Amino acid sequence: MLRILLASRNAGKLREFSALLPDLRFVLWPAEATELPETGAFFQDNALQKAEGAQAWWLEHGTEQVDGVLADDSGLCVDALWGGPGVLSARFASELPTYRDKNRHLLAMLPEGAGRTARFVCVLAFAPMPGRLPGEPFTVSGAVEGTLAHDHRGDHGFGYDPIFIPDGYERTFGELPAATKHSLSHRARACAALRARLGLNTGPRSVS
Ligand code: IMP
Repeated sequence: MLRILLASRNAGKLREFSALLPDLRFVLWPAEATELPETGAFFQDNALQKAEGAQAWWLEHGTEQVDGVLADDSGLCVDALWGGPGVLSARFASELPTYRDKNRHLLAMLPEGAGRTARFVCVLAFAPMPGRLPGEPFTVSGAVEGTLAHDHRGDHGFGYDPIFIPDGYERTFGELPAATKHSLSHRARACAALRARLGLNTGPRSVS
């Protein structure tokens, strides 16, 4: 089983990766490790920046062997907000303490009568560890289209899940079971592409 350093402290992402990639053994980004910069204008730049930054830190300070490093850069892109908050999703309305507040704030920013279409985007960067796996760092991506709800609905998932209704459904990711999110989400699609690139066959574990 491949041992992969996961370059993230986002608890929501960690939970999802364990379900979506049960065929990988994750080593968590240590509390004492450096903050990983994400200064790019695109998800892809940021994902690579995080994976390569984490790899460099691990080569110097790592306490165990890992085969590769995985980083995720993701976010919600709202058409009526010119694609925002997009790459700034993690930093959007940072003065507000909870995602319930941030979500309501985001909904209030939509211009009167504007369309409500949006998508979640996820770019994964994988950096093979020198001497453990061959090849260069690469990225894969996934997206899911949907619309914004009129209020924060449901407590499942994390972040913007309670305001995002995936196409074909009437409930938000915050209301739908985790298994439904994991069957069609941006992260699930990116993980499927990653599994194909790494030659892993097993599908995601069914979770509720
Ligand atoms: P970053 O990739 O660490 O820069 O931050 C991604 C941010 O986008 C998260 O902190 C969430 O706010 C949001 N986000 C990404 N994926 C999801 C998701 O699956 N559900 C809800 N929010 C998400």
